Amino acid sequence: MKNDLKELLEKEDFSKKELLRLLSAEGEERNMLYKKSAEVKARYVGRKVYYRGLVEFSNICGKNCYYCGIRRDNKKVKRYNLGDKEILDAVRFAYKNKYASVVLQSGELESEGFTDRIEKLLREIKNISNNQLGITISLGEQTKDVYRRWFDAGAHRYLLRIESSNPELYRRIHPDDKNHNLNRRIECLKSLKDIGYQTGTGIMVGLPFQTPEDIADDILFIKDFDIDMVGLGPYIEHEDTPMYEQRELLPSPGERFHLALKVISLLRIIMKDINIAAATAMQAIDPMGREKALMAGANVIMPNITPGKYRDSYKLYKNKPCTDEEAEDCSSCLEARIHMAGDEIGYGEWGDSKHYFKRRKGE
Ligand code: SAH
Ligand code: SF4
Repeated sequence: MKNDLKELLEKEDFSKKELLRLLSAEGEERNMLYKKSAEVKARYVGRKVYYRGLVEFSNICGKNCYYCGIRRDNKKVKRYNLGDKEILDAVRFAYKNKYASVVLQSGELESEGFTDRIEKLLREIKNISNNQLGITISLGEQTKDVYRRWFDAGAHRYLLRIESSNPELYRRIHPDDKNHNLNRRIECLKSLKDIGYQTGTGIMVGLPFQTPEDIADDILFIKDFDIDMVGLGPYIEHEDTPMYEQRELLPSPGERFHLALKVISLLRIIMKDINIAAATAMQAIDPMGREKALMAGANVIMPNITPGKYRDSYKLYKNKPCTDEEAEDCSSCLEARIHMAGDEIGYGEWGDSKHYFKRRKGE
C-alpha cells in the first residue's frame, strides 16, 4: 500500500484532488478506505441499522428521465396506483413488525389531487400508529407550499436525489425542458431544509459520461449543502429507456458497485453523523450489496413492504431484487443478513439523523 493513502486516511476532510486519489483506490487500498469508514460509523452513529419500510405506492410518473424504467414515455410498463387501504395495510405491517419508520415513494406528479391525497394519507399514518411511526417521503419536485403542507401533516424526512450536480451531465441524462431542471431541484432541496425536514439527497454512480471529477464534485456538493441523509447507488441500465443506447460507455457492474461503495465510505468519513441508506440497487449488482454498504458506512436499510404483486411494475432498472417476494419474506431474510454484517437492528427506534439535530442547534 502506498504511504500517501495511509496518511490521507488520517485526515477528516478532503480536497477535490484528495477525493480523486481516494476514489481511485483499488485492492488493498480500497479495503483500507472501507475499514476507516467503518470505524467512523461505529464511533459517530454506532453499529445500529435503522429500518424504513418502503412503500412504492405508484409508478405513474409525469417525468421522462432518460435512465428510469418508469418514465412517462415507457409504454411497456403496466401502471399501478395502490389504493389507500393497501398503503395503510403495508404501513400497519411495518408498525406491527417494529419498523419505526416508513417511506412513501412514487413517480412524480404535481397536482392538487395528488397533494390532497398524500396529505390525508400522512395524517392517517400518524393516526393508526398513535403518532409512533416516523415518515419519510420521496415524491419528487413540488412547490414549497406543498412541501410545507406535507410537513404539517406529519412527514419529517424527505429524499430528493440531485442525481448529478454537474449541469452538463444533468442535461445529458434528462430531457431539455422546464420539467427537468437542475436549478429547480436545488431550489427544492433548499425549501425542504428551510421548512425543517431532515433532508436527504444522493446521486447515481457510474452513469455514462460521468467522470471521477464529477463524482468528487458531487461529494463536495453534498458536504457544502450540509445534507442530513444520503441515498445513493450505482446506475443500472434499463432496456426500455433512451439511456440504454449508451450502455457501451458504462463501467462494468463491479466497477460501478465499488465506486458507489467508495462514495458511501467517503461521505461517512467527511460527514460523520449523517444517515446513509444502503440502496437496493447495490443488491441488484451484488447479492450481498446492501450488507457490504453497511460495512462501508451505511446505517439505514429500506426493506420493501410494497404488496408483492405490484413490485414487478416498479422497475426503475433491470435485475431489481426481491420483486417476487412479500414483506414477511424480506423481513426475516434481512435480519439474518444484517447480523452477518455485524450490525444490530434498531427495532422500534426512529434512528433520526444525528446531523440534523446538530445542524439545527447551530442555526
Ligand atoms: N420520482 C421520484 C422518486 C422515485 S425515483 C424522484 O425521481 O425523485 C427514485 C430514485 O431512483 C431516483 O432518484 C434515481 O436516482 C433512482 N433511479 C432511477 N432510475 C435508475 C436506474 N436506472 N438505476 C439506478 N437508479 C435509478
Ligand atoms: Fe419519474 Fe423519478 Fe423515474 Fe424520473 S426518476 S422518471 S421522476 S420516477
